[in-house]
Amino acid sequence: MALRTSTGRFVAAISAAAGAMALSGCATPGELPDGSTMAALAEAGEIAVGIKYDQPLFGEMGADGVPAGFDVEVARIVADELGIDEDGITWVEAPSGDREDLLSSGRVDMVVATYTISDERKERVGFAGPYYVAGQSLMTRTSDAEIASALDLDDKQVCSVEGSTAASTIKRMAPDAGLVLFDDYSDCIDPLRTGQVDVVTTDDVILAGYAADAQGQFRVVGGAFTAEPYGIGVALEDDDFRLWIDDVLEAAMEDGRWLAAWNDTAGAVLPEPQVPHLDRYARAASGE
Ligand code: GLU
Repeated sequence: MALRTSTGRFVAAISAAAGAMALSGCATPGELPDGSTMAALAEAGEIAVGIKYDQPLFGEMGADGVPAGFDVEVARIVADELGIDEDGITWVEAPSGDREDLLSSGRVDMVVATYTISDERKERVGFAGPYYVAGQSLMTRTSDAEIASALDLDDKQVCSVEGSTAASTIKRMAPDAGLVLFDDYSDCIDPLRTGQVDVVTTDDVILAGYAADAQGQFRVVGGAFTAEPYGIGVALEDDDFRLWIDDVLEAAMEDGRWLAAWNDTAGAVLPEPQVPHLDRYARAASGE
C-alpha cells in the first residue's frame, strides 16, 4: 500500500520500526516506494556515482581503484541505505563541466562532487542537501607576497575550471585578470608551481587539499568570498529520489555517520563544520 505524504511523496505504508530500519543501512527493495529509483537501485544492487578523481580530501581516486574523500563517504552512506555495498558501486569521474550531462544522460544515478547547488543548475538537475557549505577562495605560491585578496588580481593569471561556479564568479569579480580554464583543478597545479599562472581559484576546501599536499609551496589567501552549498545531484525530475536522499542525509547528520565521514577524510586537515540546513525545495513545475 502507498500513502501520499504532505510533501506529495508516495511512501510505502510501513511500521515505525521498519521505517527506522530503512534508514539504518538495512534497506530492502520491499521497504522502498514501489516504482521509485530507490527501489530499482536496491533491487539491482548497483549504483553509478559521479565523483571527482583529483581532489584530495573530497574525491580522489586511489591507485588501487578505490576512491577516498568526504564526497565519497557521503555517497557510500547513501548507497548503504539502499543495501548496496562497495562492490555494487560504479565510480565515474565527474569533471565540473560534465556533471549535468552525466545526470541528464543517465550515465550516473547521482553526483557527489563538490557540486554547488545553484538556481541555474537546478533547471537541469535536482539537488539533495546541502551536506557541506564551502566558500570560494584563492591559492598562490607562498613566495608570492603580491596577492592577498580577490582585489589584487588585475593583470594576474588566474587558473580555474570550465563549468565551475568559481570560474563564473571570478570573471565577474576580477574582469581584468587573465583567466586560464582547464577541465580539472589538478591541471592548474603545475602551472602555479612554475609561474605560468599566479593564482588558482575554487572552493577553499579543494584548495586546502592541494596546499596540504604541496608541503608549504602554496597557501590559501583572501578568505572565503562566496557560499558554495554542496548538494548531491540527481536527475531533474526525480523528486522522490532527491527528497529521500535528504532524509538519508538528515539521519546521518543526526546519528554521527556524517561527522564520522568528515573525521575520516577532510577532517584530517580542516576544522569540524557546522551541520548544514537541508534545503528540501519544491521544484518549479516545468514550463514555469
Ligand atoms: N563548488 C564549485 C562548483 O560546483 C566549484 C568546485 C567544482 O568545480 O567542483 O562549481
